[in-house]
Amino acid sequence: MLKKTVMTLQQAQQRLAKENAKSGETPAQPWLVVSACLAGEKCRYNGGDRLDPAVKALVEQGHAVAMCPEREGGLPTPRQPAHLEGGLGFDVVAGLARVLTRTPPGVTAQDVTRNFRDGAWKTMAKAREINAQAAILKDGSPSCGVHRVTLEGTEVEGRGATAALLAHNGVAVFSEEDWAGENRTHDASVG
Ligand code: SF4
Repeated sequence: MLKKTVMTLQQAQQRLAKENAKSGETPAQPWLVVSACLAGEKCRYNGGDRLDPAVKALVEQGHAVAMCPEREGGLPTPRQPAHLEGGLGFDVVAGLARVLTRTPPGVTAQDVTRNFRDGAWKTMAKAREINAQAAILKDGSPSCGVHRVTLEGTEVEGRGATAALLAHNGVAVFSEEDWAGENRTHDASVG
């Protein structure tokens, strides 16, 4: 099977610039998935958001749909923060690693793997529904992390469950920092 060509950051931003130049002629059709917390939704574990005005504007202009994989997976807000255990995001999707809540010493962690996996697949289903070409996701999250995640309490390079699943299925994944131009070298095609 031929590997799908993944959009680069430059191509994604050029497409957006072209669509913005045509705005007023044709209504925007969404082709991006973004982390809901970046769009200003208060869906973080602590009940807050990580508003990025540029990302919020993409949703308001009709270019993007906002998804919170952890909420989609059935977790409440606020909720316990969580980290990966035994592997990175794609390992979670593949059933080879877990996601556990981060609890104080002496308190038993809760296994939230199924919520994270369900949320990743629901976000993937939305990406398919709109034929998403790219996603802008909150880095560092065990769901949305693009370059870094927390594995067993330590920050490491790698992707969260949703970012890994999207990338594995040919959606180019960028962090909010990539999108803002604080670009790091990375290969968006790696799942
Ligand atoms: S980083 Fe992802 S999972 Fe976490 S609150 Fe934001 S959208 Fe939801």
